[in-house]
Amino acid sequence: MHRLTISEMARMLKQGDCSSVELTQHFLDRIETYDTKINSFVTVCPEQALRAAEAADQQLSTGSPTSPLLGIPIAHKDLFSTEGVLTTSCSKMLANYTPPYTATCVEKLNQAGMVMLGKTNMDEFAMGSSNETSYFGPCCNPWNTEYVPGGSSGGSAAAVAAGLVPATTGTDTGGSIRLPAAYCGITGIKPTYGRVSRWGMTAFASSLDQAGPMAQNAYDCALILETMAGHDAQDATSLNTPVPHYIKDLNQPLEGLRIGLPEEFFSDQLNPEINQILHQTIETLKELGMSVQSVTLPNSALCIPIYYILAPAEASSNLARFDGVRYGYRCKDPASIEDLYIRSRAEGFGDEVKRRIIVGTHVLSSGAYNAYYQKAQKVRTLIKHDFDQVFSQVDVVFAPTAPSTAFKIGEKVDDPISMYLCDIYTTAANLAELPALTAPAGFHQGLPVGFQLIGGHLEEYKLLHIAHQLQQVTDFHQQHPADFDFEEG
Ligand code: GLN
Repeated sequence: MHRLTISEMARMLKQGDCSSVELTQHFLDRIETYDTKINSFVTVCPEQALRAAEAADQQLSTGSPTSPLLGIPIAHKDLFSTEGVLTTSCSKMLANYTPPYTATCVEKLNQAGMVMLGKTNMDEFAMGSSNETSYFGPCCNPWNTEYVPGGSSGGSAAAVAAGLVPATTGTDTGGSIRLPAAYCGITGIKPTYGRVSRWGMTAFASSLDQAGPMAQNAYDCALILETMAGHDAQDATSLNTPVPHYIKDLNQPLEGLRIGLPEEFFSDQLNPEINQILHQTIETLKELGMSVQSVTLPNSALCIPIYYILAPAEASSNLARFDGVRYGYRCKDPASIEDLYIRSRAEGFGDEVKRRIIVGTHVLSSGAYNAYYQKAQKVRTLIKHDFDQVFSQVDVVFAPTAPSTAFKIGEKVDDPISMYLCDIYTTAANLAELPALTAPAGFHQGLPVGFQLIGGHLEEYKLLHIAHQLQQVTDFHQQHPADFDFEEG
């Protein structure tokens, strides 16, 4: 039952073959049985979930479900505020924080009748590429539990891959939906900046952060994105444009659509076997009627350096609110107000978060501002221009998601630069505010390989369409890690 797609589950619920309570219980049981192996959940809320499922069943019994998501279980990254449910951002700083309100995009999914099973593990404050900076310990990759699931939305990806929940939400500031989707063999989409409201999502780097769905396939992502997206007066950067009915055109042929392959992304830095797997996907897309041409993103080598200036700069400012006074962790017996600030922050934040605050504060300081922060902003504009050029020639950009498959837990923890380089192909889309999707392309030595599609502004529908068509003729997205499929429900 847990490997059905969302639409298949919705059909079962509608026909009365199973109730939302049964479906919800099935997934809760799976979490209890299997999550000890991977640590993908930091909070599970069975009572609340079963209550929501009962309400969904009630509505289903009227015979006219209001949303295709009614009664379907989901879990949210622990960065999203959920009223009455712990929301820790996987930091000691917020380890016992329960928000009094719910993030807009989560609320929209609640309104549609989705059943929240719990909150998923992540890197502390979404800073990381491996889920190893979580205060609650690393999450493991279900394909091989010695490996990382990717980060920062590692729990969200691992839980879907292990079949513990049909779909999750994630957030992506520099790749945190796409990297874990690639490492765990699932589909995820980071929408255009402003497409999904950021209200109620703990801020990391406000000009880059964007929420999106992670699921077993592109169709399920389309269903969820349609519901999560839309204007929100509470987020000043939220786009006030109508949300398309994404699933409507997913079955159209791909004929005539043009793919661009950025030269810079297919260089020696990319593992050759991964390159080969990606080229098989490109061949399949050609067979489906797409044309392929080479394009260039001349400033792409600057993405990592400027991302790791801008994101820490914004983080240092956003994280200033955690001062031990208003909310969050407070140190014991402070001797003075200064001691309270200093020790609360020193004890409440982990190493990676502190590293970002130090870098961010430095690049914003008067002596460094012009040389780093301002220059990085200028380069960001050049990167946007590169994409404008590319999208005057092609419909979408096809790229790797990551230079390698998942790496071993512990392998990169002491080497921040090599950790940062995992984001080499993903940060460009955030810097240019563009939508980008990752879906499975194959396997290398037993671990999933993902491809990435980057689209023009608000062109999520093209990415979902291409990925969906590809998933009609390939079955990588239907392969699952063996150790989680002993029991069939
Ligand atoms: N890995 C990147 C970072 O550590 C991206 C994180 C994210 O997208 N939230 O900043």
